[in-house]
Amino acid sequence: MSARRILQLGNPLLRAVSTPSSDSGECERILTDLRDTLHEFQRTRGFGRGISAVQIGEPKRLLYLEFRGRPYTLVNPEWDWRSEETFRLWDDCFSFPDLLVYVERSCAVRVRYQDLCGASHVLEAENDLSELLQHEMDHLDGILTIDRAIDRNSFCTREEWLRQGHPATRPEAFASKT
Ligand SMILES: [Zn+2]
Repeated sequence: MSARRILQLGNPLLRAVSTPSSDSGECERILTDLRDTLHEFQRTRGFGRGISAVQIGEPKRLLYLEFRGRPYTLVNPEWDWRSEETFRLWDDCFSFPDLLVYVERSCAVRVRYQDLCGASHVLEAENDLSELLQHEMDHLDGILTIDRAIDRNSFCTREEWLRQGHPATRPEAFASKT
């Protein structure tokens, strides 16, 4: 029941493919630590919406998200559907919080997952929640945002991004100089 250290880029465990968990006691313990770790990150950094178990050194298929004031605890989530329609955005990650990466994500997704009692659920999401889910689901397979960079102009330090007025999208003039 405590905030844990968040693994940083370069730690090989971030590349692990996480395994499903069927031990509800283990899931509850890890998810509580994920919640506490997310809250500690929000308190110290002022942002943060989701975290995967592998980021605190537990390579299990568990996600904890907070979106628009609502918590989501996902046990063993799996893709059910991802829209072909996509959008682009600057994404960030607790494991390299001072680097933003310009990526492309599906506009809408549908995920099947279990709760702590083992009951199955379906979560449909669009836009912000959709891209958050795609980011966190990638962690479960050892995929990081940097792997999704659209091109070599898709990286920006947080300092520079803030200096530019934290743009939601990348200027096309910048994008075309690839
Ligand atoms: Zn991340």
